Amino acid sequence: MPSRYDASPADVAELLAGEPAYRVRQVWDGLHRRGVDPGDMTELPAALRRRVAEALPPALELATESVADGGDTLKWLWRLGDGALVETVLMATGSRATACVSSQAGCAMGCGFCATGQAGFERNLSEGEIVEQVVRARRAAGDRRLSNVVFMGMGEPLANYDRVVAAVRRMTGDLGLSARGITVSTVGVVPGIRRLAGEGLPVTLAVSLHAANDALRDELVPLNRRYPLDAVVAACAEHRAATGRRLSFEWALMDGVNDRPSDAAELAERARPLGAHVNLIPLNPTPGWPTRGTPAAGVRAFRDRLRTRGVNVTVRRTRGTSIDAACGQLRAGHEVQITARAR
Ligand code: SAH
Ligand code: SF4
Repeated sequence: MPSRYDASPADVAELLAGEPAYRVRQVWDGLHRRGVDPGDMTELPAALRRRVAEALPPALELATESVADGGDTLKWLWRLGDGALVETVLMATGSRATACVSSQAGCAMGCGFCATGQAGFERNLSEGEIVEQVVRARRAAGDRRLSNVVFMGMGEPLANYDRVVAAVRRMTGDLGLSARGITVSTVGVVPGIRRLAGEGLPVTLAVSLHAANDALRDELVPLNRRYPLDAVVAACAEHRAATGRRLSFEWALMDGVNDRPSDAAELAERARPLGAHVNLIPLNPTPGWPTRGTPAAGVRAFRDRLRTRGVNVTVRRTRGTSIDAACGQLRAGHEVQITARAR
């Protein structure tokens, strides 16, 4: 049997052969809409609960849990069946919560400033391994409504296209989340962006730009040599036209690298025609990249330059830095002691 969330409705039906037909729907809804363990499906006879629990084991085994921001940020390191390690972050604000999920163990894109990229690629996650992260996060969110899921954990989602799209469909169909609350963040895999535009899924697309001229972007984001800015921007326009969804550009501000007035001007030229929203975040320092994040005053100055040029811009709050749960710091392969280190 596949893992709990890799099982299809047909697999569940096969497992429940001989039981009344409504049991299949009961188990499926219990796993998805209610997100409970089979052991807690009290509507099932105890023997059946045990059988379902045994036949459909979870894919994620908890390795460590870390807490930051007064309990508003939680990070889990999961051990998968083959020993691969991936992370999920849950961030709560008021009555709502956002899950930041991983799509791959590691990442092959090699962005030097990113801890996941520094550690290299291990493997794609399965559909069920992605869905289960969301189910576990939603359960942990408790009374807070899990309104958003962002593919900003480990990995490049559009390099694991089929499984990511299947997982998104399960989130909207079976888990009952709104596609509008789901953000697929990509470093700029152009064929993936174009394909996504044709799926009829109104998800938000976030493109991690970080540089708005090819010379600098080639250095920061190796994939830019394959899909340069003009191609990325054209694919973004296609996605916007097809879905009507807002687009966002992610920009990790690196001191003296991409925070100059000329960078703001170039970014504005790219963002404005697309109506793209820019999210700024000071670079989080990682072991393998010496550049520091732009200090707060520089972040504000950069933001104001964009605003003056008519760009919608938000400075993202850094969450969970004390537990390495912040963007680009997820590097589970590299180890548990990072997680445990208190700063
Ligand atoms: N591979 C996808 C999604 C995962 S990375 C992508 O690159 O978009 C999620 C976000 O974290 C991206 O915007 C990425 O650029 C950003 N990021 C990576 N390393 C970072 C760092 N050290 N500091 C701040 N943001 C970082
Ligand atoms: Fe991969 Fe995204 Fe990190 Fe680049 S920033 S290495 S694409 S996870």
